[in-house]
Amino acid sequence: MSLRTDIKKIQNLVHVRADGVFGPITARATLDALRDEQRVVYEPGTEIDDRSAKNIATLLPRARDNFEKFYRLANATAATMGCEYILISGNRTWEEQEKLYNQGRTTAGNIVTNAKPGSSWHNMGVAGDCGVFQNGVYLDNSNPKLARRVHIACSKHAKACGLKWGGDWKKFKDIPHYQLKVSESLSTARKLHLEGKWA
Ligand SMILES: [Zn+2]
Repeated sequence: MSLRTDIKKIQNLVHVRADGVFGPITARATLDALRDEQRVVYEPGTEIDDRSAKNIATLLPRARDNFEKFYRLANATAATMGCEYILISGNRTWEEQEKLYNQGRTTAGNIVTNAKPGSSWHNMGVAGDCGVFQNGVYLDNSNPKLARRVHIACSKHAKACGLKWGGDWKKFKDIPHYQLKVSESLSTARKLHLEGKWA
């Protein structure tokens, strides 16, 4: 074991490149993580913005409490960074997924998903995407660096809320994405959904 190994461990924990050098990026990410642990408490009474509330309502009942709790914790964290964390999408119908899948393939625009209809947890009503905002401005577009820091800080609450974070995926990291931790596989869920038994 060496100090470099320990620094790499910290870097993995705070989601920065694990090069074993404790530079300003690692320092800032570590401070964000510490601040997050110290300050954030779950406040069930806090308000939910309309867009997030609307998107949470599109989810299956079994996912709503998890996302609501996550929303409140994540927003408390985002607020310490001067931002808001808003649920910008929830359930997506299979028709909507088809449209999205065709984008960049048979219709105009860039490819935005590799998931065909029924191949996304969004189609199962248990996934949502979050966006980082500051005074109504969508930072994922206008300040992706800060947005990324906020996503990483907020994602720390996912596990405690029974959610999985897309940023933890090995391939195709999807940092705005969260989904309910479920025991079923996607293929089982798809089968149940087609039979009208997915709930
Ligand atoms: Zn997503």
